Amino acid sequence: MELDLLPLELPSDKKRPFVIAGPCSAETEEQVMKTAHQLADKGCHIFRAGIWKPRTKPGGFEGHGEPALKWLQRIKEETGMLTATEVAKPEHVELALKYGIDILWIGARTTVNPFAVQEIADSLKGVSDVPVLVKNPVSPDLELWIGALLRINKAGVKRLGAIHRGFTSIDQRIYRNTPMWHIPIELHRRYPNLPIVCDPSHMGGRRDLIAPLCQQAMDMGFEGLLVESHCSPDEAWSDASQQVLPDVLDFIIDRLVIRDNAEMTESLASLRKQIDEMDTALMDLLTKRMRVSREIAIYKKEHNMAVVQAVRYNEILDKRGAQGTLCGMNADFVRRVYEAIHEESVRQQMEIINK
Ligand code: PEP
Ligand code: MN
Repeated sequence: MELDLLPLELPSDKKRPFVIAGPCSAETEEQVMKTAHQLADKGCHIFRAGIWKPRTKPGGFEGHGEPALKWLQRIKEETGMLTATEVAKPEHVELALKYGIDILWIGARTTVNPFAVQEIADSLKGVSDVPVLVKNPVSPDLELWIGALLRINKAGVKRLGAIHRGFTSIDQRIYRNTPMWHIPIELHRRYPNLPIVCDPSHMGGRRDLIAPLCQQAMDMGFEGLLVESHCSPDEAWSDASQQVLPDVLDFIIDRLVIRDNAEMTESLASLRKQIDEMDTALMDLLTKRMRVSREIAIYKKEHNMAVVQAVRYNEILDKRGAQGTLCGMNADFVRRVYEAIHEESVRQQMEIINK
């Protein structure tokens, strides 16, 4: 299904991504005003703050709601910055628009729920000029993410973007939410005109990961960044460990290397041609390997043998893993490749045996 899009047209400095920065939550009028002025002094154009906070467990600070919208209004008047906040219900949309919030986003815990997204979409009918950004769902489910984008788009919102904030994972190693970059890459492949914004704060969950994640997002051609910034990060009422000072954010943004990924040099074209040729050769070899595998299936059928022979399978995985290491590749990677090849090979053998 297609998306009917218009450019987001959010303000940014030339040759820079647009940056939406501000605290996780609007805690006090003083905290948001101070943070906003510091960000504005550093040239930031768009201010974010959570007014309604989706906390995983009860008991945490859940946002001030309507009174805090007045603080964002004041920020807009005093600094000229645009303002952005998360909406999770139709009444949030109504209030945010009433107080002149410029950009709305849908949080990761909302995107997982099509009922909630549809209610928000219905409340957005007729407000086509407000940009809406849709965070990825907490689960690594691209279809659910696309579904939410389609629902909002069908309501008439054309200034639409996606926010990649990483995915919940059982093995939390480095990141709070694993990036799984292949998911936004696939989203971009399907919808090349849909702007993607990276949220390194919720992805990394740690201050020291903000800079490398911002750089990775730029290297992937993302259009914008959504970064949590607080005038006094250690005292933040939510997400303290990932918020950075406005000064630090400015330092990070200033050092980003923006590569021109549209330009295709002649040498790059020739290298890509080589890759295409090798992929064709790989495909050719795989086809031949599958053919031999199907011949083995005929033999197994005639001799009443089981399709999967565990000893042989383990031997292949171990041997190829070791060969891969000798060739300078990660043994786990090579094992994964062979697991996938084996899966397809078993599928094809089963077809023959069950004929
Ligand atoms: C946020 O950006 O404040 C937020 C709650 O993020 P997420 O929906 O990505 O958890
Ligand atoms: Mn947060």
